[in-house]
Amino acid sequence: MSILVVGSVAFDSVETPFGKGENVLGGSATYFSTSASFFTDVNLVAVVGEDFPQEHFDFLKSRNINVDGLSRSPGKTFHWKGKYGYDLNEAQTLATHLNVFEHFKPVIPAAYKDAEYLFLANIDPELQMEVLNQVRKPRVIACDTMNFWIASKPDALKKVIERVDILVINEGEARQFSQEANLVKAARTILDLGLKTLIIKRGEYGVLMFNGASVFAAPAYPLEEVFDPTGAGDTFAGGFMGYLANTGDTSEAGIRQALIFGSVMASFNVEDFSLNRMKSLGYKEIEERYRSFKALTHFEGLPSL
Ligand code: AMP
Repeated sequence: MSILVVGSVAFDSVETPFGKGENVLGGSATYFSTSASFFTDVNLVAVVGEDFPQEHFDFLKSRNINVDGLSRSPGKTFHWKGKYGYDLNEAQTLATHLNVFEHFKPVIPAAYKDAEYLFLANIDPELQMEVLNQVRKPRVIACDTMNFWIASKPDALKKVIERVDILVINEGEARQFSQEANLVKAARTILDLGLKTLIIKRGEYGVLMFNGASVFAAPAYPLEEVFDPTGAGDTFAGGFMGYLANTGDTSEAGIRQALIFGSVMASFNVEDFSLNRMKSLGYKEIEERYRSFKALTHFEGLPSL
């Protein structure tokens, strides 16, 4: 099954202790689509400005991402400027220029309205709600957000969360949104909004998933080289949703496998700037790292002493 994703397509200017990139290809929907495209067909809805080069359209098409819903508007492409210190878990936003997103009204093409898998990537929650109002009855709706929207539009965000199945959010954002310091209490407060599944991303410490009554934890893959964490959350979500859409298996076991595929994709993405690692990645490498994850977390059952 294909996935419909609505989110940002951006130019990012990013600085990490290991280098910097100016106006490189980024955006929540870009990272998500590219990652998900390793598992399934992706229909992308977003907007870019007149300055967005053909080369980036060509890249998305080369990954078999359907860009019929990626419109071009007069003005400049969304621009995010961020910086990471040696603690790569937390990005410091230096500037957010919404540009063409300021007047963007997502129009879901008729062919996408029956989407079974929908991902509302990080974008203004009011736009996320407009998307929800246009689709018919997706089987799985997942959503992401960030501190910028939690601080500026908490009520709109709450209304979106009440209508989705799965929320993918950072540890700090979970605390900020729930106003609970303890992460388990924060999770309970957020789940009470009606979610089936809550996934809390904890950067280099991995992810924690609350799915119904069960809790599952996966570490992040221990990497020696991490260059740029930008897009880790979105590539995680792309692997997670891509696998779910590929198999249709939303059982506890299936959702745990999806979570590992998400972690695998994020672990590759941070190895290079922008989408560079996604560009060189092959499916064999994804399989290999999935196996390494299994070995990393395997331990024997309780021994009798
Ligand atoms: P992450 O996966 O959380 O690292 O997401 C990084 C991407 O989010 C970057 O490529 C940015 O272009 C994009 N981004 C940053 N701020 C916003 C925002 N306020 N709305 C939508 N997208 C954003």
